[in-house]
Amino acid sequence: MDSLPFNTDDCWAEVILPLPLPKVYTYSIPQSMAEKAMVGCRAEVVFGKNKRYAGIIKNITRVAPGFPTKPLVGILDTNPILHQHQLDLWKWISAYYVCSEGEVMAAALPANFKLNSETNLLYNDDYDGDLNGFNDDEYLVAEALQLKKQLQLSEVQQILGTRSVYQIVRKLSESNLCFVWEKMQDKIKPKTESVVLFHPEFDSNSILEPLLNNWKGAPKQMELILAFLHLQSSQHSITQAELLKKAQTGSATLQALCDKKIFQLQKQIRDRISLMPQKIFIDFELSLIQQKAYESLLDNMEKYAVNLLHGVTGSGKTLLYIKLIEKYLLQGKQVLYLLPEIALTAQIIRRLQKHFGGHVAIYHSRFNDQERVELWNKIKNREVTVLLGARSALFLPFQDLGLVIVDEEHDPSYKQQDPAPRYHARDAAIFYASMFGAKTVLGSGTPSLESYYNASTGKFGLVSLLQRFGGLALPEMHMVHAQNEKTKGRTMITDSLKTAIEETLANHKQVILFQNRRGYHPYLVCGACGDIPKCKHCDVSLTLHKYSNKLHCHYCGSTYPKLVQCFACGSVKWTEKNFGTERIEEELELLFPKAKVSRMDVDSVRGKTAHETLIALFEKKEIDILVGTQMVVKGLDFDHVSLVGVLDADGLTSFANFRANERAFQLMEQVSGRAGRKEKQGQVIIQALNLNHPVLMWVSQHGFEEMYKHELQERKQFFYPPFSRMIQLTLKHKDEKKLHLASEKLAASLRIDFGDKIIGPAAPIIGRIRDQYLMDIMIKLPKDNFTQRNKEVIRRHIDLLLAEPPYRSIFISIDIDPY
Ligand code: ADP
Ligand code: ZN
Ligand code: ZN
Repeated sequence: MDSLPFNTDDCWAEVILPLPLPKVYTYSIPQSMAEKAMVGCRAEVVFGKNKRYAGIIKNITRVAPGFPTKPLVGILDTNPILHQHQLDLWKWISAYYVCSEGEVMAAALPANFKLNSETNLLYNDDYDGDLNGFNDDEYLVAEALQLKKQLQLSEVQQILGTRSVYQIVRKLSESNLCFVWEKMQDKIKPKTESVVLFHPEFDSNSILEPLLNNWKGAPKQMELILAFLHLQSSQHSITQAELLKKAQTGSATLQALCDKKIFQLQKQIRDRISLMPQKIFIDFELSLIQQKAYESLLDNMEKYAVNLLHGVTGSGKTLLYIKLIEKYLLQGKQVLYLLPEIALTAQIIRRLQKHFGGHVAIYHSRFNDQERVELWNKIKNREVTVLLGARSALFLPFQDLGLVIVDEEHDPSYKQQDPAPRYHARDAAIFYASMFGAKTVLGSGTPSLESYYNASTGKFGLVSLLQRFGGLALPEMHMVHAQNEKTKGRTMITDSLKTAIEETLANHKQVILFQNRRGYHPYLVCGACGDIPKCKHCDVSLTLHKYSNKLHCHYCGSTYPKLVQCFACGSVKWTEKNFGTERIEEELELLFPKAKVSRMDVDSVRGKTAHETLIALFEKKEIDILVGTQMVVKGLDFDHVSLVGVLDADGLTSFANFRANERAFQLMEQVSGRAGRKEKQGQVIIQALNLNHPVLMWVSQHGFEEMYKHELQERKQFFYPPFSRMIQLTLKHKDEKKLHLASEKLAASLRIDFGDKIIGPAAPIIGRIRDQYLMDIMIKLPKDNFTQRNKEVIRRHIDLLLAEPPYRSIFISIDIDPY
């Protein structure tokens, strides 16, 4: 038997690679790296034949692995980039949500920490220079290599105008013209800028005045010196860019002064994220009932690790959070404040910064990669104590977390859909907090059924704050029948809503209108044959967008020219069905020509700051009517909105999902919550064709308890969560027949172990997306069967299927606690 390449007193590192691989990989640690290799550091490793990755060292062991190992190539960090708690969180997520730690790592780390190797071609200087044996393409690359000595694979691809360059690269390396090697690119670069200083040999105290008085150089140069002196009087350091702008001159002038040894340029590292001065400043007092709620929350926090704060919209939940944050800040603990969407963070961050200044920072997906790394380090080094962010902020390297706030805890955006890890940030946050012995507060005006159930069964503590601040009543609800008497279709804006908008505008108040469909017309129907234009790649009807004048598929993003003739029958008569936000915006402009109307949906807020700008304009009352999708629903706090309209409630209540009623209630209750938050009771108008839907009845009375009782009963009867646990398997493939065979086979094999707990397979409502057919299998497990062991059994059934040659190419995802 071969002996192992290292002595027994050597060490091995277990490394997590950012790949969907089921296990961690063991590498030996060369003597030279023994000191530097630490758990939590990134290590460069060779995986497979010669692919290089930056992995995370998860564990260091002296126990020889019993198989030959490759050595680590290098250690990329001098200090670990995360703490043990983060590694433990990854492990928990990977086990609970049945995915690999590598997949969690890929979601957790900012992109710049995740390096992949880039293939490089290095010219062989000993090559005799003869290029005669090469074909045209090879010649092009060989020539470029002779000139530049080194090329990246991507440059070769550029030279040849194609991605498939492997044959050519192989030919060149076999002819010994070049070597092929893999190089890691570390993309973390500190941001630097050039600052202008007096030259050390220039004695500004004694020479400057005489020099200026007898100036003999170019006048531009003198202006530049004067501009410098001016800036210097008010600021600490002067950047080249600022100085040139102030002096209105170019860099040649500055260079001339540097040559004269009057100035010099220096590179300085600059923070991308600058924090305000830290402070703690509380300038409000809680009202009596808020104070009572706060005290019972504090009491509860002694007893329960998790507390649910059920506070109706506008009751002052945010103020309670602020008081809690103050308490934990004073204890020197870190705080994580999660929100479901970045659209919300803009307002909350201002509220928090007012009270805590630079103790607080925000982390969101619109940061660029460098900024993310910088914030990552600020959290790790505890320069930031309070962090506000969406789902992925959970992965930041907190060291001493004391409190986690999950605001709007009912919001489905907390659940990641694709790709894996398909985790629920609220549930993962509860686990994460428990690792630190920290407390979790879940807050919502419309708690999720699961959380409220947990609170009523004593698993969580419960604190209720069921009155709006200032004794304001919750908004008055009006249900309006939206049928158009003439067309029998749906009216976009009923007379009642129109009148209410007129009155609101006359009172100089603002209006929010909610329609859960974007675009102009959600779908078209051929007036002659009833055909509905659909996407070629998805089973989805196309939406007409007016700004592009095209038909859009909201699932794959394909666009199509506006149809003139029906594909099926050639008719040119189209009936436009329903209306999207674009269409409503246009209608409002016609109906209320004097009002300023804006739209907030994913089409209108594409840029980095577009949604913040819209929110700011609305706050400043520069917009009278804001129409939007779900984005306008969530926790925003505006002072002057007195009317909210829900234009098509039927569209919200008609989903086929066991959470449909809960979800519709939450949406309508939340959007109503934007009305009348200050001064006066607000008003809500809900338009629907089916006014008898139970959800509308609950919404009209703000009847959370009624909704909860009814829905819980249904869940119990049909054995849905919280009474059972669900796991959804989704199979995907281009070949519909193969997919059906595979799904049947998997379901049959699962039934051997789980019997009637297996439901399906069945095609989802949208059975094809991006040319891939879909099939779902649902597993509904009693709570005691929802074990790690059973998850592994399920995983094994899947692996067995995928091991069969015809089914290897099928993609199967596992979704634990699906939404
Ligand atoms: P929620 O988060 O429960 O929807 P907020 O915390 O946003 O409620 O409070 C609603 C509004 O009432 C906010 O504008 C807030 O500033 C104001 N408010 C609530 N409580 C107080 C208080 N004790 N003192 C002053 N203003 C308050
Ligand atoms: Zn037709
Ligand atoms: Zn499509």
